[in-house]
Amino acid sequence: MPRPIRATLKASALRHNLKLARETAGEAKVWAVVKANAYGHGLERAARALADADGYALLDFQEAARLRLAGVTKPILMLEGFFRPLDVNLLFKYGLTPVIHNAEQVELIKHMDLPSELDLYLKVNSGMNRLGFGVDDLRPAYNTLRLHPRVGSITLMTHFADAEGPGGVHDQLRWFNELVHAFEAPRSVANSAALLRFKETREGWVRPGIMLYGCSPFADWSAEEIGLLPAMTLSSELIGVQNLAPGERVGYGFTFEAKEPMTIGIVACGYADGYPRHAGTGTPVLVAGKRTRIVGRVAMDMLCVDISDIEEAYIGTAVTLWGEGLPADEVAAAAGTVSYELLCALAPRVPVHEET
Ligand SMILES: *Cc1c(COP(=O)(O)O)cnc(C)c1O
Repeated sequence: MPRPIRATLKASALRHNLKLARETAGEAKVWAVVKANAYGHGLERAARALADADGYALLDFQEAARLRLAGVTKPILMLEGFFRPLDVNLLFKYGLTPVIHNAEQVELIKHMDLPSELDLYLKVNSGMNRLGFGVDDLRPAYNTLRLHPRVGSITLMTHFADAEGPGGVHDQLRWFNELVHAFEAPRSVANSAALLRFKETREGWVRPGIMLYGCSPFADWSAEEIGLLPAMTLSSELIGVQNLAPGERVGYGFTFEAKEPMTIGIVACGYADGYPRHAGTGTPVLVAGKRTRIVGRVAMDMLCVDISDIEEAYIGTAVTLWGEGLPADEVAAAAGTVSYELLCALAPRVPVHEET
């Protein structure tokens, strides 16, 4: 028998969340963002469940090839364009739409005899200062590409730095609009947070990611309140039980000490499964469906939970690390990170159980 840990991935939740994204997007078309192995959910599996999207967005050429091999015929947006000149051949081989975000890429396309028409996205730096063209170089880049006889549609896109936070999208969107108002081109600006909270971003093509997987980008608006369903549940079982006397300690570094008699359960799940090692004492967890807390340090293959008040808990009792009944967003917050990181980190050694 394998270790009792497993990840349950629910296609019905992905479908539900995509439907909600679609309804929110109104007339806009939807790229389902499936980068990083569909946020840890398995690329082909997620793509199948998200088949109602208008296209898929990712950034790895191998992942793009996998989608084509799986029979995907919809558009695929390459969020970081291409990395080396030879990659341009792959754009045609697999029929991909690149995001052009630097001058080298423009130069390369300019001097290339493209084998057929190429639609592309042109990335505008509206303040995040990672990728894209700004006030000085946007127009020349656009004109160069526009003059190429084989370049088809050019969509102007940007990405928000703080759509989920206090900054919102206002300043970046205003700057983007100033930069692009003179261009007759379709647009793409919204990630999940912008799509959900700012209706002025629901235009052209929206690019939801995290919401499709049932997590919230916001600290102050939960996935449940939004109406999202968790697509990934990480669960395991107790494989040991210990009774502690006051003063006894637990785990590596002896970071937790019992103040009174208590019972702890040992869970078959550790950081080598993708559980965050930074999740300290107090991080929420479900044992036999009841909410309790992690105690001590997360190890490679195990972690410890307080089961003093869960009388039925014993070896073999079910544990939910995150997912149904316990939002990954809450576990992430307790571990000082975001649900994105938890989902993406699900380790290949964790057996996956698919539900339709
Ligand atoms: C990852 C990504 C998204 C999706 O972001 P979420 O916050 O997961 O919705 C959208 N656009 C770009 C450019 C991205 O890299």
